[in-house]
Amino acid sequence: MPNVANCKKCGALFIQSSKRDICDKCFEQQNKMVSDINSFVEMYPKETISREEVLEKFNLPKAEFESLLAAGKFVRVAKKITIVCTKCGKVVPIANATNSLCNDCTRKLQNEI
Ligand SMILES: [Zn+2]
Ligand SMILES: [Zn+2]
Repeated sequence: MPNVANCKKCGALFIQSSKRDICDKCFEQQNKMVSDINSFVEMYPKETISREEVLEKFNLPKAEFESLLAAGKFVRVAKKITIVCTKCGKVVPIANATNSLCNDCTRKLQNEI
């Protein structure tokens, strides 16, 4: 029995053939956007680009960016996209950060627990 699910993105019904929670159409669009983002960042003339600039440019919600990042979609450009650590204010590449915290602060936070 195929599993029918609602697409998390557009709400359309689709047959869920894998763990994916979005429909084929949205998945394709997402793939295209991911490769657009990767090439945009790679071609970006400066050494780094802020995550906010990428989000703005592609009209992408932060939560979606984070889940794509967690899924390993931005490995190629993770050293070039930067965030400002919400704890210490340091600018770090997303490769060296978790969500909106730099690795130093993440480590400190873990030690505190
Ligand atoms: Zn969809
Ligand atoms: Zn920090």
